[in-house]
Amino acid sequence: MHFVAVRAVFSFLVPGGLLLTAAWVILHMGLLEESLPTLAHIYLYVVAVAGGMFGWRFSRSRLVFAIIVLVLADTALVHFVAGSSMHQGVGRTVFNAVAFLLPLNLVLFSMVKERGILTLRGIWRLSFVLLQPVALFLVWKYQRWDMVSCLGFEFVHIPFLTAIPLAQPALLAFAAAFLLLTFQIFKRRATIECGFFWALISVLLAFVAGSVGPLSTVYFATAGLILVVSTVESSHSMAFRDELTGLPARRALDEALFKLGGSYTVAMADIDRFKQFNDTYGHDVGDQVLRMVGSKLAKVAGGGKPFRYGGEEFAVIFPGKLADESIPYLERVRKAVAESDFVLRSPDRPSSKPDRPRPMTGPRKTVSVTISIGAAERNERNTSPQQVIKAADKALYAAKKAGRNRVKS
Ligand code: GH3
Ligand code: MG
Ligand code: MG
Repeated sequence: MHFVAVRAVFSFLVPGGLLLTAAWVILHMGLLEESLPTLAHIYLYVVAVAGGMFGWRFSRSRLVFAIIVLVLADTALVHFVAGSSMHQGVGRTVFNAVAFLLPLNLVLFSMVKERGILTLRGIWRLSFVLLQPVALFLVWKYQRWDMVSCLGFEFVHIPFLTAIPLAQPALLAFAAAFLLLTFQIFKRRATIECGFFWALISVLLAFVAGSVGPLSTVYFATAGLILVVSTVESSHSMAFRDELTGLPARRALDEALFKLGGSYTVAMADIDRFKQFNDTYGHDVGDQVLRMVGSKLAKVAGGGKPFRYGGEEFAVIFPGKLADESIPYLERVRKAVAESDFVLRSPDRPSSKPDRPRPMTGPRKTVSVTISIGAAERNERNTSPQQVIKAADKALYAAKKAGRNRVKS
């Protein structure tokens, strides 16, 4: 439990928090004093080009749109606000508009599903992004600043807030964005959402840094960099994690086996008569069973590490343990699966579409699910991981032959 909490905190702080702290330290230690104005823009454009190309190549539209929005925001600030005053006139209004729109755009991209860039939906989203600078341009061309002056509105007078250069509508936008993102992080715990969270803090720092120019550009670029790195990280973890069960996938098993030395045990677990189960209740219910079995395996004790091997098969490795030492822990998992009454969802539930009508009378019918497990240790006969897996498979076959719902070695 403790380990899980530490990992959750770690994956929240890295890479976003780390990158932002690095940027903050570099800026506030004055390490780049002289060359900052030149470097700031090079930094932003390198991040934008690299991130844009990566996003384009791997169809990560949310990253691409977020980068476009960050570059547009920086351009608007540098063009209208830098040099002039951010406390009055046109500069103030543009500052307010950008500070209001940017958090809302970012939180929106964090929430939408990935739908490609040059698809119908992608083009809609791109139009939505580009509409905003066009609107700002029109306001500027026709000098209708009165139309956006409401963005500087003060709802209530709070003396403490006057120290912050952000107007109240922008503060509300940031508050709403943080609230929504926090909710999403708790719900999904995905790397991308954490990335958007830290990117939003970086953007907030850009606005409260006190001056528009190199400082705000560095924070915008850092926001982009955080998003790029979290997107790369999530793509990596997608390849190593099984989406359905949340367990590490086959590729992670191969890597874990490669690192193992000395003695260890590999167990192969397989759901009993799963084909029949799928045929009777439908593939979606089958998927729920896979999730349930995965969740029981995730709790395996004795230092066992579970993986989804493929299909309805799972693997557990016990580093440093002999087969006989691992069997009690496997027995516990087998028992936990057999004893958990699997509740079938009501057939009316729209999320589950059965392949054929299911023979159910009430909305809360329970069925039992069992698994068979075969375990084998590394020894003089089976020295390579492939040989150990093969031996575990053999033991699994024996468990099936002996009547299923049992552990064999
Ligand atoms: P046994 O007790 O001998 O293991 O019988 P079984 O029916 O479980 O064995 P078999 O290997 O013939 O069936 C495996 C079935 O698992 C076939 C396939 O329909 C199902 N299956 C594999 N992957 C998935 C998946 O991701 N979701 C669902 N719902 N079913 C899957
Ligand atoms: Mg099978
Ligand atoms: Mg099976």
